[in-house]
Parts: sequence; C-alpha cells; structure tokens
Amino acid sequence: QRRVVIVGAGHGGANAAALLRQSGYDGQVVLIGDEPELPYDRPPLSKDYLIGKVERDEISLFPEDFYQEQGVTIRTAERVVAVDPAAGCVVLDPGETIYYDQLILATGAAARTLPVPGNDLTGIHTLRTAADARAVRSIMRPGVRIAIVGGGYIGLEVAASAALRGAQATVLERESRILARVASPTLSEFLTRHHSAQGVSVRHSVHIAAFEGDAAGRVVVVRLSDGEAIPCDAVLVGVGAVPRDELAVAAGLRCDNGVLVDPNARTSVPSIYAIGDVTRRPLHYRDGSFRLESIPSALEQARRAVAAILGAPEPRPEIPWFWSDQFDLKLQIAGLLDDAERTVVRGDPSAPKFAVFHLKGARIRAVEAVNSPGEFMMGRRLMERAIDIDPGRLADESVPLRQLVA
Ligand code: FAD
Repeated sequence: QRRVVIVGAGHGGANAAALLRQSGYDGQVVLIGDEPELPYDRPPLSKDYLIGKVERDEISLFPEDFYQEQGVTIRTAERVVAVDPAAGCVVLDPGETIYYDQLILATGAAARTLPVPGNDLTGIHTLRTAADARAVRSIMRPGVRIAIVGGGYIGLEVAASAALRGAQATVLERESRILARVASPTLSEFLTRHHSAQGVSVRHSVHIAAFEGDAAGRVVVVRLSDGEAIPCDAVLVGVGAVPRDELAVAAGLRCDNGVLVDPNARTSVPSIYAIGDVTRRPLHYRDGSFRLESIPSALEQARRAVAAILGAPEPRPEIPWFWSDQFDLKLQIAGLLDDAERTVVRGDPSAPKFAVFHLKGARIRAVEAVNSPGEFMMGRRLMERAIDIDPGRLADESVPLRQLVA
C-alpha cells in the first residue's frame, strides 16, 4: 500500500493529513510529532489562551477521535532523527524505520534565544508550544512585572495579554521602533501609543547586555548595555524563530535558512515536500524566496503539496496574509511591504479604525488593516487581481471601496 509520512504534527502537518483524506487519498497516512500532545492551534497561545479566555481542549486542531476515524496514524512524543532520501525512509528516535512513497516535512520553527549571559536563568521564557504557554500563563498575575524582549508580533501580543491580566509589561525593542522589519512606521507608532495607553511600557533602541538572577537562580533584572537595570519577575524572549531544517540539511536537501521549495512545496528531492515555517518559498507575483511564518501560508502549502501528491490540479496561488489580535485591535495584514514605494492611509487611527495601503506604481503591494476587515478584503482582492488603482480615490473615504475594484 502507498504511504505518505508527515514529520511534524503542527498546523501544516496535521492539516496536510486531513487534506490527504478529504482529497480521497487511500494510502496510509502517518503523522509523527515530537510534542506529547495532539495537534493544536498556535495563535491563541499568545492571545486568548494566555488570558484564560479559552482552554487547551478548545484549541485542538481536530477532535481526539478524528485521527482514527480518518485512518491517520498519529504518533505523538516521537522524534524523527534522520531522513534517508535514497532508501525512502525516516528514522525515529529509538531506531525504528518507516518507509514512505512521499514525505512531507512540516517541522516548523523554534523560538530564537538571546545569546547573552544569564539566558539560562529560571523565569526566562520563550513561546512556541502549548507547554511554553502554560508556563507563561501561570506567571501572568496582577502586579507581576514581565520584561518582554522583542517588539515583534509575539512580544506585543504577550504584552497585551499581560496587561489584560493586570501584569506590568515592559517591551524592550532593539530597533528604533517596534515591528521595524515587518510593519509601516504608521502602524508601529499607532501600536506604541495604543499599548502605552493600556499601561504597557514600550522602550525602543535598547540593547540587552545580560539577565541577572537572585541566589536561587531566578531572573530578577534585565541589564541594558548602558548599565540600566530593569527589575522584573519574569522575562519573555520574543526575538523571532529559526526554521527547524536540521533533518533536511542532514539529508542533503537544498536549504538556505529554511528548506527551499518550489511553488508546489517540492524540495530538491522530488518525493519530499516541505510546508510551513520550515520552508523558504517562492511567491507567484514576486522574485526571490521568502520565509512566511503564518497559518495561511502553511495551509496554502499543505493544499499544494497534497494536490501535487495526488496529481490534482494546482490550487490558485494566494497573496500571503496573517493576523494579530492585541487588546481590542484586530490587525490583518496582506502582501509584503518591502518593495513598496509609498503609502496611503484610509480611515482614522484615533478611531481606531484605519488601513495603510502600500503601493508600487498604481498597484497595491500590501495592506495593514486595523479593525478594518473591509479594507483588508478589498486590498487583498486588488492584489489578487493585480488591478491598477488611483491613490487619490483610495485615500478618499467618500469613494466606496467597491468602486475601486470596478
Ligand atoms: P508548527 O505548527 O510549529 O509545527 C511543527 C511541529 O513539528 C511542532 O510540533 C514540532 O515540535 C514538530 N517537530 C519539529 N521537528 C520534529 C522532528 N524531528 N520530529 C517530530 N516532530 C518534529 N500565525 C498567524 O498567521 N497568525 C497569528 O496570529 C499567529 N500567532 C502566533 C502566535 C504564537 C505564540 C506562535 C508561536 C505562532 C503564531 N503564528 C501565527 C504562526 C503560526 O503558528 C505558524 O506559522 C504555524 O504554526 C506554522 O505551522 P508549521 O506546521 O509549519 O509549524
């Protein structure tokens, strides 16, 4: 019987297993994950799960009996230690070998740590897994001082969650503004104001020199490079993630800070696919390759890999997008900002309800929408259809969005 083996039982891997069945694949599906629990949704780990609004059973990707019903062999708490492309098999930790016809690598990414003295003290956390989230959640009590290193999306979401739980959050950002690499100055400034108004202290251009502990080895101070001490009860390090491409590297697959894949998620070895955060992938409307760490990208690649395995028609290419929730803000971002030439703001940041459109010539390259799902949808559609727009009309709220597409 044919067999697809999937390594990594996170968002990409679990959905790929489900999609194989939905698409009529009748061979064996083996899903192997090194976490001790069934696949779950990661986004709530920094949001609703952290503030206790939802519990663990509510963030499972599929019900417990789903895997058996669908004929998916799921093996949790099992780590794949090697891939042998020549033999067509993976090797599990105790030495068991599983052969595949097709392999999907969905090993995700690991939270980056900070290479400074004291980074192994108790009370310093990263946030990637449900186990991490349980640990962070347990310290989020009123009055607790949490230093958050990194003003990226995860850092800001944890800061918002901390504030909502009555904890005192201080965000320490190395760049001159939060989200410097991924958001517009307009959005960064808006979020800084919004967080500050909710009691989060946001500090820019600060460099972490060390973490310092008490006699019991618990972190009590974040020491900045200018000597300033930030007293704290706990630290959350949110400084990005590194692709877990070590299996692929060792197997000789082409990698470059991520497994290199084609538009259908194929690696340099035809029977091996890679999806999700572990990949560096192309985009149909851009040159180059990109590391997109988002649920929509992992799902799109899962769909494409499954279609390729089944010989089904290629799904329509998508514009990348993701979301973030902070306090009462619903952020939705589509496209990539890096090659845009100018921005147009529609709406009112003080409302707060606005969208920043990023343009290259007459084309929208990205949209950052805050509490503006209509603008987000429309921006995405304009990008999908590669429609030229008039920037003056885009900025003019008296022109209905619908007319811009016409
Ligand atoms: P993962 O979901 O990370 O799954 C990979 C799995 O593979 C893990 O379980 C890992 O332990 C396992 N694994 C690795 N190596 C091995 C091995 N050798 N053997 C066996 N198993 C292995 N995205 C959004 O779009 N919106 C959001 O709001 C958002 N919020 C987020 C909040 C947090 C706190 C985090 C951590 C991420 C968030 N993301 C968000 C990103 C999103 O969760 C990821 O893009 C997505 O989970 C990627 O799916 P994946 O399958 O590639 O990796």
